[in-house]
Amino acid sequence: MPELPEVQSVVNHFRKYVEGQKIQSVKPLNEWNKVFHSISPTKLNHKLKSQNISKLWRRGKYIILDLDQGYLAIHLRMTGRLQTKINKTDHLKHFTVLMKFENGTNLYFKDYRKFGRWYYFETLSKLEAKLGPEPLGSAFTRQFLKEGLQRSPGMIKPKLLNQKFIAGIGNIYADESLWTARIHPMEKCCNISTVKSNRLHQAIQEILNKAIGHKGTTIINFSPGDEARGNFANYLNVFGKSNEPCPRCKTLIQKIFLGQRGTHFCPRCQKKR
Ligand SMILES: [Zn+2]
Repeated sequence: MPELPEVQSVVNHFRKYVEGQKIQSVKPLNEWNKVFHSISPTKLNHKLKSQNISKLWRRGKYIILDLDQGYLAIHLRMTGRLQTKINKTDHLKHFTVLMKFENGTNLYFKDYRKFGRWYYFETLSKLEAKLGPEPLGSAFTRQFLKEGLQRSPGMIKPKLLNQKFIAGIGNIYADESLWTARIHPMEKCCNISTVKSNRLHQAIQEILNKAIGHKGTTIINFSPGDEARGNFANYLNVFGKSNEPCPRCKTLIQKIFLGQRGTHFCPRCQKKR
């Protein structure tokens, strides 16, 4: 699933096509209308038609379009991606939305698995209520992380995936951050020392920034835009590396399942207390 760096890379790629444009129409393709979640396609088109898009940005794993009135939020989920054109190798059955702009540009939403969703919001308060601070924003301080962990009796890996605690981190960057900070994914949050919490804070920010610099991680079919690929997969240390040697100590990386999420760690570098 695309996480913060992937979604940021999509935003970075599409800003030039989307910002400043006026929407002519938005419609579902292939009669697949679950993509619009709780609003009918006709109603959504009516809301969006003739609206100007002043800004394209990211909040957590959501792509946000600021409109004259309200907001459009896109969640890519597993396989959603944006394209400005249909390529020769594409199958039309995989497309779920076509947004047309008055300048003639088209924005397609392609989604093999069809879990991706487009939401219209009058205000962002509902979304904000579900999301914690941005890990690259000023509210995500060492103090914030330390206090959040101290209050939490649960395990650290699921805590990092909790979007209400911190927005945007998913499976890849949680595993990579915990490996860098040398924290066992099943460690109880409240057992994590200040030194380790600070190390985790630094790891999260460094890894996310580096991944954005490489346009995210393409493992199967993520694309930051059109046919481009993210190449942060070349810099992963543990994610997807089970039974390969740890880059730090050469012990074999283990994979376990935590809350049904594949979790990769080094049993030697990441000891539980
Ligand atoms: Zn190791």
